[in-house]
Amino acid sequence: MAKRRATRNYSAGDRASRIASDLLNWYATCQRDLPWRRSRDPYRIWVSEVMLQQTRVETVIPYYTRWFERFPTLQALAEAPEEQVLKAWEGLGYYSRARNLHQAVREVVASYNGEVPDDPALVARLKGVGPYTVGAILSIAYNRSIPAVDGNVMRLLSRLFLIGDDIAQPATRQAMEGLAAQLIPTGQASSFNQALMELGALVCTPTSPKCLLCPLREHCRAFADGAVERLPVKAKSKAPRPVDVVAAVIFHEGRLMIARRPSDGLLGGLWELPGGERPEGMGWEQAAHLLLREGYGLEVEVEAHLTSVKHVFSHLVWDLRAFTAHLAPESTPVESESVRWVRPEDLGRFAFSVAHQKILGQLPGRN
Ligand code: SF4
Repeated sequence: MAKRRATRNYSAGDRASRIASDLLNWYATCQRDLPWRRSRDPYRIWVSEVMLQQTRVETVIPYYTRWFERFPTLQALAEAPEEQVLKAWEGLGYYSRARNLHQAVREVVASYNGEVPDDPALVARLKGVGPYTVGAILSIAYNRSIPAVDGNVMRLLSRLFLIGDDIAQPATRQAMEGLAAQLIPTGQASSFNQALMELGALVCTPTSPKCLLCPLREHCRAFADGAVERLPVKAKSKAPRPVDVVAAVIFHEGRLMIARRPSDGLLGGLWELPGGERPEGMGWEQAAHLLLREGYGLEVEVEAHLTSVKHVFSHLVWDLRAFTAHLAPESTPVESESVRWVRPEDLGRFAFSVAHQKILGQLPGRN
């Protein structure tokens, strides 16, 4: 027998219109002047929303500005090679966001005449676009009454309506989307959704929310019940798995060997120093020999440990150790699609992950 899905429903009740008007009044005077708020162009909204996932506003602003200097239109982005797109994203992390955005924009240009469709079902089919991004693009750019519920908004709604369900559960997210939809006032989805996000970012913050300055305080059930600090409820995610990674710094006739990661998966399509995961129980230098031989058909002689970098991803922690090495006499440097020998002054043309940039910064003459 098929399992029945648990469904939840939250109700905004008769407070919805007062909540919306208090929130919109606050937003009209307190919103930040952010570059993506100066435009209703769906392409600009889309890029800002993708960049802002998991990334702070202050970090995003310079990337956002440079992005539109390089790719001012959907067409310009669609025509750009992936290498250039990754270079523009270099340092922002979560690189699948950039690759998906690039592919989705190519689809918009190919299938929708270069215009982001004003249709949630079509936008939801684009690569990397989930329910939050659909709601954000279509409500902000086209003023469509579609909720945009991310972690900030779930935190705020949990408190406002005293909801103790785990916000990491898909059923809770769906129910919150239903609740947020009830709150959107007719014809004001664009401002309302942005106002909810802004209040979550500036006032109803994860720690020390500024309840005394909050425009929704008199509607807030968690404030009335003294429950603000214990909401939202969120199951702890697993601790990131530690992984040991070896990188080799190999110069040959003044050129450095770099390798391109496979285009899908972690840091897909980015360049790095050759190496890989250290097999369990194997010494670091021995692992460097093995990884260079098996991965690139090269025999190397390891010289010395250069530097170590710790890098935390959402699900992994890298202990990345770099060793200087040189080619053994029987090895010859060969180039391919995914291996290049590059003069140090040309490294800036390639997109590297932050962890590998730190190693490159330790090379003589680069720090
Ligand atoms: Fe959040 Fe406090 Fe405002 Fe309630 S009163 S919505 S807890 S900031």
